This record gives sequence, structure tokens and C-alpha cells, in this order.
Amino acid sequence: MLEVFLKANGALTYDYFLSHPSLQLNRVTIFRVLNLFANKRIIHRIPATDNINRYLLQQASALVHANFMCNKCKSIIPLETIVSPKVKLPKDYIPQNVEIIIGGLCAACNNN
Ligand SMILES: [Zn+2]
Repeated sequence: MLEVFLKANGALTYDYFLSHPSLQLNRVTIFRVLNLFANKRIIHRIPATDNINRYLLQQASALVHANFMCNKCKSIIPLETIVSPKVKLPKDYIPQNVEIIIGGLCAACNNN
């Protein structure tokens, strides 16, 4: 599964692994491996806006994850984040990760 992630160009879903021809893993195994990867911070889970969790290979030393999600074809493209948005946290709260999702149309959908 890690190999699939390394070859993938973008975020992958649980169903993608389930239907992947070279994997042939059962549902429980896929679920466990995704959780393990997420816990070890090899991948991160993108909060779903359409009830489908997506997983993306962790970028090195990334605190801020910014992703573009196409509202039409639902593809997710990781974006480079240059500055973290300034968010005021309550006293004694420590931020550990920031997720940004920008919704819109990808280049392919925009040109159709
Ligand atoms: Zn699109």
C-alpha cells in the first residue's frame, strides 16, 4: 500500500485500495493499514467534505496541509503552503496541525 501511495499523484480513498488490482486486500486490512500509516504520520487523513475520507502521503515536516478539492471531479491536489493562516487560539492551546481545503474547479474541469 505504501508503494501505491508513493506512485500516486494526489490523495487516495479507501475504495481505491479496495479495488486496486495488484493489492487484493480485505476491508479490515486496508482499514488497519490506513490507520497505522496515519498514526505513524506517514499519511494524513483529509477531512471529508463529501463523507469520503481521503489519504495523502505526508509531506516532509508539514504542519500546514493545504489541498485543492475539485467540486466537479472530486480530485484532490496537494498545494504548497507558504504561510500559515493566523488563527487565534484560546490560552494554553497548542496547534499541532492545520488543514486547509480550497474548493473549486481543477484545470481539466474548468476547461470543459
Ligand atoms: Zn476537476
